[in-house]
Amino acid sequence: MAKIPSSRYAVCLLASILINILLLTHQFRGWNQLSWSQTAAAEAEAVASISCSGHGRAYLDGLIVDGKPVCECNTCYQGPDCSEFISDCPADANSGDPLFLEPFWMQHPASSALLVAGWHRMSYIFNDHTYISQVLVNHIRKVHAIAKNAVTDGKNIVVGAGSTQLINAAVFALSSENSSYPTSVVATTPYYPLYKSQTDYFETSHFEFDGDTSLFKNNSEGLDVIEFVTSPNNPDGHLRKAVLQGPSVKTVNDHAYYWPYFTALPAPMDEDVMIFTISKLTGHAGSRFGWAIIKDEDVYERMVTYMDQAEMGISRDAQLRALKLLKVMLKDDGREIFDFGYKRMTDRWKRLNQIISLSKRFSLQEISPQYCNFLNKIREPSPAYAWLKCEREEDTDCTAVLRAANIIGRKASVFNADSHYVRLSLLKSQDDFELLLYRLNELVTKEYGADHQSM
Ligand code: PMP
Repeated sequence: MAKIPSSRYAVCLLASILINILLLTHQFRGWNQLSWSQTAAAEAEAVASISCSGHGRAYLDGLIVDGKPVCECNTCYQGPDCSEFISDCPADANSGDPLFLEPFWMQHPASSALLVAGWHRMSYIFNDHTYISQVLVNHIRKVHAIAKNAVTDGKNIVVGAGSTQLINAAVFALSSENSSYPTSVVATTPYYPLYKSQTDYFETSHFEFDGDTSLFKNNSEGLDVIEFVTSPNNPDGHLRKAVLQGPSVKTVNDHAYYWPYFTALPAPMDEDVMIFTISKLTGHAGSRFGWAIIKDEDVYERMVTYMDQAEMGISRDAQLRALKLLKVMLKDDGREIFDFGYKRMTDRWKRLNQIISLSKRFSLQEISPQYCNFLNKIREPSPAYAWLKCEREEDTDCTAVLRAANIIGRKASVFNADSHYVRLSLLKSQDDFELLLYRLNELVTKEYGADHQSM
């Protein structure tokens, strides 16, 4: 065997040592680069690892007791680790808190976590002198493209502090400034109550809330009208179309629930003013982030002016959070999260129907199976809310009937509807939903007991 000369051996050894030193310094530099984020990451993981028995969670900004963040328990659970069920606790189906998606995000802790540097976007403006991240706008367009629920091409996007703010911005932008009468703002009963409450609250000489569309059906000619169309509708989950037409009628299409979890998506919507919200897309209602897709340049400019006057744009932190969440959604073209939410909501609707179908006293809204462009098949309904009816004539206050059975629903009068109805939220946490089913089951079982006695 040929011998390696000792000088060549020494050169090889030196080179190998040098390479190793280089690699090690590079690695250390890498560690150093990560060092400022490690404390924040450790803090976040420590809070996330606090066990709240699956019936609560601890937050970074929650209360600290004995130097440790405490569990914030789901309704009807208590104790230091939320493990105690409060047995006579009412099932609260009142609010539209979209916590049904919380388990999805808990299954994706790494991809959805966000670390924000202390100096992140301190300025009032982005580098392009706007108040909105163009990268975020592009991601919003992509989400609509994958969900196949709205056409964004050739349209502008304006963002707001939740769609709540955009609803008012749209009323300002669409109301006529030159007319001697205020523009009438209307919606079809049962309608989402904020259209009335907000329009009343912010009323100016340019607009006022004037109730149900039926009052304008045959005599809207010449009158300036803004019609809110909620599709699918809150509270009854039906897909809706504008009722009023004419040159002086403007339509605001509130598509908060036009996502695969809650409805069939028969086609991408291509309307002039469409409003969406992250609250019902990713479930992050607390981030207060919504957007409007606007066709007309002038209406867009007026909405932007409203946002500039009210807010100087939306919090850059909320925009960053929204971007991160949309990125996770887009990773697999939304298949995973839409599938997760769709399965959860269809399961809830099926189980609720099984119970209510046994009752003669109560009924649920009927929604027909329909072709869904996203799922590419006919799909069963899975609305965000049950619009429950008390069938007995004497049950004139359905909310009170349910309250007596330890169930809290939202009363129909706030939707301008007959009080034989009550809205029950189906998109809250699994704990809330299970308790709702349990109490409804008790109520329906009692009805059967009473029927037997009267026989
Ligand atoms: N529109 C409809 C129909 C809603 O149900 C809601 C919330 N429940 C909103 C708008 C407001 O949503 P956010 O302000 O959270 O975006």
